[in-house]
Amino acid sequence: MSNNKKIKNWGAYGLQTRAVRAGQQRSNEGEHSEPIFVTSSYVFDSAAHAAARFCGEEPGNIYSRFTNPTVRNFEERLAALEQGERCVATASGMSAILATCMGLLKAGDHVVASRALFGSTTLLFQNILSRFGLSFDLVAPEDLDAWQRAMRSETRMLFVETPSNPLMEVSDIRQLADLAHQNEALLVVDNCFCTPVLQRPLALGADVVVHSATKYLDGQGRCMGGAVIGSEALVGEGVFGFLRTAGPTMSPFNAWVFLKGLETLQLRMQAHCAAALELATWLEDQAAVARVFYPGLASHPQRELASQQQQAAGGIVSFDLKAGKAAAWKLIDATELLSITANLGDTKTTITHPATTTHGRWTEEARTEAGISDGLVRISVGLEDIEDIKADLERGL
Ligand SMILES: *Cc1c(COP(=O)(O)O)cnc(C)c1O
Repeated sequence: MSNNKKIKNWGAYGLQTRAVRAGQQRSNEGEHSEPIFVTSSYVFDSAAHAAARFCGEEPGNIYSRFTNPTVRNFEERLAALEQGERCVATASGMSAILATCMGLLKAGDHVVASRALFGSTTLLFQNILSRFGLSFDLVAPEDLDAWQRAMRSETRMLFVETPSNPLMEVSDIRQLADLAHQNEALLVVDNCFCTPVLQRPLALGADVVVHSATKYLDGQGRCMGGAVIGSEALVGEGVFGFLRTAGPTMSPFNAWVFLKGLETLQLRMQAHCAAALELATWLEDQAAVARVFYPGLASHPQRELASQQQQAAGGIVSFDLKAGKAAAWKLIDATELLSITANLGDTKTTITHPATTTHGRWTEEARTEAGISDGLVRISVGLEDIEDIKADLERGL
């Protein structure tokens, strides 16, 4: 390896330095940028060499379902950002969550999860994993008493997204970690909305962080991917053990796109957060708006908690229109610039009506209980000029 300075302790470096450089191992070509290793398998010098690799006597690549240099580069960089011992990359955010459950739970175990989770996560828990002997209870994300009441002797995992989607409810990671550990359970945090730039759940006591890299880590809406970060014992053995055998691994091309995404993650998140705060403040002054949900506003019930565990309030803003669904659809249809899509974490601003899209398959009763009203609109604030975003919304307000 030429030009490889072999920095081992990335913890001594700042976040932005880690985001640009951590995990790179230059090849003998001395390339400056990270190469993409598009190969499914690896060759050995001899039969004995192959045998040493296969039995684990010598570390190294065997097959890209197990390890790939570009994917490893992404894993090491993200682990350095989340301050975790080990990261494993996955084909999507959902396969990161699946691998976490399959790697760390067994039939008979019980999971307490927030009811305000990404829709597919709730479906994975309730419709699929529940068929394999796992049971789930869903609770209000910010209500610690509700989490406590749901605990059972067989509870082995707590699962939360904070801030939640779409109402930006904030859960106390430290308190949930304590509750989990008192019961010999693990706390898993889906850190998709915040990214390690805004929030580092492992440092707050969580055991495992999962990501949909599809969102802010890419940040430009190009590739599907995910990741799981935590200790060597949990992630390196449990989760990786499932992944290398079951196979939802990340492609090296996607890993390379995410590596490039990480390099600008901090700059992008700062810009997303500044624009979202400005938009949320402006929305609160609009006559048609009943309420704005954004943890950076004084009106947010958990603003104090958000300011303690997050660096900034994030790039997602939701708001409730006084005139309900008709007004929400009119606002969405009047936009010329914003993308009507349920995706988020893109440079392009997106607008969604949760009640009829992401939460459309929920019963009306479940939506009401979770606070997803018919007038609710969610915006993932992109990197366009903020005045243009406001003008586009003003058309339909
Ligand atoms: C999108 C998303 C996921 C799922 O990720 P995919 O990459 O779409 O599989 C999980 N959690 C959250 C919070 C998400 O926004």
